[in-house]
Amino acid sequence: MTSTHAAIPFFQQVNLAFDRAAALTDLPKGLLDQIKTCNSVYHMAFPVKRDDGTIEVIHGWRAVHSNHKLPAKGGIRFAPNVSEDEVTALAALMTYKCATVDVPFGGAKGAVRIDRTRYSEAELERITRRYTFELAVRNAIGPGVDVPAPDYGTSASEMSWIVDTYVAMNPAQVDALGCVTGKPLAQGGIRGRTEATGRGVCFGLREACSVAEDMKALGLDTGLDGKRVVVQGLGNVGYHSAHYLREAGALIVAVAEMEGAVIDPRGIDVAALAEHRRGGGTVQDYGRGEVLDRSADALELECDILVPAALEHQIHEENVDRIKAPIIAEGANGPLSFGASEALAQRGTMVIPDIYLNAGGVTVSYFEWLKNHSHVRFGRMDKRFEEQSSRRMLGAVEELAGRTLSDAERDRIVKGADENDLVNSGLEETMVLAYHETRTLARAHDVDLRTAAFVGALHKVARVYEQRGIFP
Ligand code: NAD
Repeated sequence: MTSTHAAIPFFQQVNLAFDRAAALTDLPKGLLDQIKTCNSVYHMAFPVKRDDGTIEVIHGWRAVHSNHKLPAKGGIRFAPNVSEDEVTALAALMTYKCATVDVPFGGAKGAVRIDRTRYSEAELERITRRYTFELAVRNAIGPGVDVPAPDYGTSASEMSWIVDTYVAMNPAQVDALGCVTGKPLAQGGIRGRTEATGRGVCFGLREACSVAEDMKALGLDTGLDGKRVVVQGLGNVGYHSAHYLREAGALIVAVAEMEGAVIDPRGIDVAALAEHRRGGGTVQDYGRGEVLDRSADALELECDILVPAALEHQIHEENVDRIKAPIIAEGANGPLSFGASEALAQRGTMVIPDIYLNAGGVTVSYFEWLKNHSHVRFGRMDKRFEEQSSRRMLGAVEELAGRTLSDAERDRIVKGADENDLVNSGLEETMVLAYHETRTLARAHDVDLRTAAFVGALHKVARVYEQRGIFP
């Protein structure tokens, strides 16, 4: 391996993984070229008035990698160093991710090049609304066209400004709320979306760790219980991944953030640590455990599972040889360079790839979009009906058995599914099915999970083109 890999642009890194998988298919070259190509990219530059009255030019992008299904789907990132290459690469990952978990969307991604800590809330609102306007006038956002969501540096607040701007510009559009997902509940959001990506990471890891044969090959016991986990990034994905892994019995032995890392082999209470940071504290002055001043050093710690959940290109040719974790769970998009991924696969490290593992967010975004189109909360129509049928059935069983349950026991058994239950069940089903589908492909082709996930995704996207033909 050469260090030149480190200089390979992100989109090219994604395409190296694509090429390796494509070689295992018998799909026609022209079709593979079409799948691989990014269909369109908008680069928008627009003025924003700062609070002090000065004007600043802001740069934003929206890349639609694939329109093979509509709408296209992908988050919007606010970060100081984003580039067209980064947005295009992330849009491509969205195409393959949606296909991997059978979410019927094309792949897209957006970005605004800002360091959000340098702007007031009012300025962030103006930037977000103007970015949305720029998309809307190009017909590049809409429930049937392209549907953004939160990503690095954005959250439900930005989605709320986006939906409000879009609805104001399209007041008569009945499905307008479906123009963006990850919205607050009061604006058509869905329960469980904020935590969905992290919850999905946990489901994916649970499946991976449940296969005795695979764990034995790594020298590990089955199950998540007692597994030592290092998490990089305590944002949306990192925090929720750590939270659910902890709930499942794993020990979060280190957390890395921008400013450094904290290590505690007894396990870190991530809720308390996140609260400490929200209050202006750092991982270093958290007051428990040992500290590291460089976030990157935490990636090299001894552990069972490493969850990079911050940004791309964290594990690369220069540090890959020092990575000790037998399982790497890609919470972030593209945290491993192609070269690092290859080296780890050769070494027998299990890398659970981004295009599968962090798909929980887009899966629940899909449910939110369905909710926006149906104009009704999941569970609203059938929860009570289900409970009444179960109650009647239970009454008959009690009569036959000659035993009466307590009210608490009965309530527990008859409880109908509400929106949260249905969302989480749909998410779990998606993550479980996709894991085993990917693992089966990996075994069939004798390849790592990333290559297998790409092979599966390429076949699914190709099938759409093959079935509908190429227009005109
Ligand atoms: P976020 O902005 O909520 O959190 C990211 C965190 O990473 C921040 O706390 C930031 O301070 C930290 N960070 C940045 N650089 C770091 C470094 N070098 N070391 C340690 N910490 C660092 O973003 P997020 O939504 O959690 O996204 C994180 C990653 O997950 C991104 O790659 C994103 O594309 C991907 N992702 C997000 C979602 C989602 O639903 N939000 C879904 C799929 C994938």
